[in-house]
Amino acid sequence: MTEIQRHSFDVLVIGAGGAGLRAAIEARTAGQKTAIISKSLFGKAHTVMAEGGAAAAMGNVNSHDNWQVHFRDTIRGGKFLNHYRMAELHAKEAPDRIWELETYGALFDRTKDGKISQRNFGGHEYPRLAHVGDRTGLEMIRTLQQKIVSLQQDDKRESGSFESKLKIFHETTILELLVDQGRIAGAFGYVRESGEFVLFEAPAVVLATGGIGKSFKVTSNSWEYTGDGHALALRAGASLVNMEFVQFHPTGMVWPPSVKGILVTESVRGDGGVLTNSEGKRFMFDYIPDVFKNQYATTEAEGDRWYTDPDNNKRPPELLPRDEVARAINSEVKAGRGSPHGGVFLDVSSRMKAEEIIKRLPSMHHQFKELADVDITAEPMEVGPTCHYVMGGIEVDPDTQESRVTGLFAAGEVSGGMHGSNRLGGNSLSDLLVFGKRAGEHAATYAAGLEKRPQPDEAEVAKLSEYATGLLSPQAVEGAENPYTLQSDLQQIMNDLVGIIRRAGELEEALEKLAQLRKRAEAVRAVGGRAYNPGWHLAMDLRNMLIVSECIAMAALERSESRGGHTREDNPGMDPHWRKVNLICSIGESGVALKRQPLPQMPVELISLFDRAELAKYLTEGELEEFDAAVA
Ligand code: FAD
Repeated sequence: MTEIQRHSFDVLVIGAGGAGLRAAIEARTAGQKTAIISKSLFGKAHTVMAEGGAAAAMGNVNSHDNWQVHFRDTIRGGKFLNHYRMAELHAKEAPDRIWELETYGALFDRTKDGKISQRNFGGHEYPRLAHVGDRTGLEMIRTLQQKIVSLQQDDKRESGSFESKLKIFHETTILELLVDQGRIAGAFGYVRESGEFVLFEAPAVVLATGGIGKSFKVTSNSWEYTGDGHALALRAGASLVNMEFVQFHPTGMVWPPSVKGILVTESVRGDGGVLTNSEGKRFMFDYIPDVFKNQYATTEAEGDRWYTDPDNNKRPPELLPRDEVARAINSEVKAGRGSPHGGVFLDVSSRMKAEEIIKRLPSMHHQFKELADVDITAEPMEVGPTCHYVMGGIEVDPDTQESRVTGLFAAGEVSGGMHGSNRLGGNSLSDLLVFGKRAGEHAATYAAGLEKRPQPDEAEVAKLSEYATGLLSPQAVEGAENPYTLQSDLQQIMNDLVGIIRRAGELEEALEKLAQLRKRAEAVRAVGGRAYNPGWHLAMDLRNMLIVSECIAMAALERSESRGGHTREDNPGMDPHWRKVNLICSIGESGVALKRQPLPQMPVELISLFDRAELAKYLTEGELEEFDAAVA
C-alpha cells in the first residue's frame, strides 16, 4: 500500500473560510487539539471574496433595527421555509459575533459618531451590513487568521511549539470521512503539491467546505467549490436538506467571456445603482411581487427619495431579494430588451461622484477597469444572473450544528436550513460566524466527553488509496474519459436543465443525463503522476459534483411549486402546502434517495412577530386558524 502520513487530533475542521476558522478558534479555546484543513492556500476561500458585508442588527445607522426585525427579514427572504430556530439564533447572536471580531482586531468602516457603519442591502429593512469598503470578507479572514496566530503564539509560550494545539494543513483535500459504527473516526485526503495521502484520526469533524457552484457553467464560485462537504456528509450517512434551492445572484459580469459569472456586489445597488434595460427603462418597478407590494416604492421618485429619507419613503425595487431581481433580469433578456452582451445595465455613475464610487466600491472599479475596460465612474456595467450560493445543505441540529452522524458537525454555506429558499445578502458572513462558533464549541464538548475514541478502519483506508491511485494513468488510455470534458458536460447540463428557470421535462432529462455521466465517470482517468496534477484532483472532485447535482435535480423535480431560489415555469407561484415540507436527500441502498419531512413549526412568540395579513400570503387556511387560536 502507498505510504500515508498519519496525524491525530481531537477536532478536525475541514475548510478554512470564515466558518472553519471561527469553529477552529472555538475548539482550540475549549482546549481541544484542533487541525484546520484547506483545499486551497490558507486565506483563499470564498469568505475572502465577500464584498458587501456581514448582516447584524446592531442598530448603529437606524436605531429601529433589532434582532426581531432581522429575524423577520430573514424569514421573509427565505419565503418562510427557513429553520426558525437557526434564523432566531442568527439574528440574536450576529451583533455579538461582529463586536467580537473587533476584539480580534477587525477595522470596520465607521459612522460619523465612531460606531461600526452599516449599509443597505436587498431584503434588509434597515441599513444592517457591517462592512469594510467592498472588501469585508478580506478583513474578516485577516482578522480570524490573526486570532489564530495569536493563539498559536500562546501555545508556543506554554508548550514550546506553535502547532501543539492548532495546526494548519493547507492545499490538502479531504476525499472521504471515516466512520466507525455510525460515529466519526477521522478523514482521509491528499496533499495537492506532492499527491501524498494523509490520514487524520479524530472523533469530531466540522465540515466548513462552502458551496457547490462549480457544477454550473456560469458561476461566481472558484475552482474548489465542487460540493465536497455535501458529498462527504452524504457518503458518511448524513442527510442534505432542500438542495433544490440554489441562488442565482442577479449581477454577475456577462462580458468578456473569460470572466463571465464574476460577481458584481449587491452594494452597487445598495449604494444607489439602478438597473435599466436596452430601452433605458428602470424595469424593476414592473416586477414587484404581491408578497412585497407594501414594502417597496412603486415610483422612481419615491425610490430615489428613500436614499435620503428612509423613514418616510419605501425602498426602490432594485433592492428586492436576489431571487426576484435575478428572475426579472432573466425575463428582460428573454424578451429581447437585454444589453449587447446578454445582460442588463447597472449604473452607479449617475448617482455618485467618481471619488465616492472609488472610495465605496474600490474592488468593483478595479475589476471592471481591468477585466472589461469599463470605467464604472462614467458608464454603466453590463450584468446578468450567475450561480452564487446554495441554500440547501447538510441537515444539522440548529443549536449544536451536529448532523445525523455522531461527531459530524457542519457550519457555514455547507450546512442547510438557515436561509430557507433564498438567502439575503450579508446573511452568509454573519451565519458563518454565529454557527462556526457553535459548531466548534459543540464539537469540542463532544470530543472532550468521549471515553473511547472511534477508530478508522485500515481496510477502508487501503481501499481509498487504491481508488485514488486507480484514477491515474502515466499515459493517455484508449476509451478513458477526460475529467475536464466530463466537468464541462456536467456544467452545461446543470446550466441548461437545472438553472434559474426549471421545467419537469427538463429536470427528468437532466437526471437521465446525470446517470449517463455517472456511468462515463467510471472510466475517468487523469494522465500523469501524483505530484501537483490538477486533472487528477478534478477526477476525484467529479464524483462529489455528480452526487450533489443529482440531489439538486431530484429535489427540483419533486418540489412542484416556485419559491425563492427554485422557479418552476410549469408550477409558478408558491403553494402553502409545500411550505411545510423539507426535502431530505440521503444515500440509500440503490443510490441517492429523496424523502419529504415536515418543516419544524415556528413557535407562537416568533410567528406573532408577523402581521396576520402577511402570514396569509404564505400559510394554509388550517395554519392560519391555529395561529388565530394561539394568539387569541
Ligand atoms: P468558504 O469561505 O467558501 O470556505 C470553504 C473552505 O473549504 C475553503 O478553505 C476551501 O478550500 C475548503 N474546502 C472545500 N472543499 C474541501 C475539501 N474537500 N477538503 C479540504 N478543504 C476543502 N456573503 C455575504 O454574507 N456577504 C457578502 O458580501 C458576500 N459576497 C460574496 C462574494 C463572492 C464573490 C462570493 C463567491 C460569495 C460571497 N458571499 C457573501 C457568500 C459568502 O462569501 C460565502 O457563502 C461564505 O464565505 C462561505 O463561507 P464558508 O466559511 O462556509 O466557506
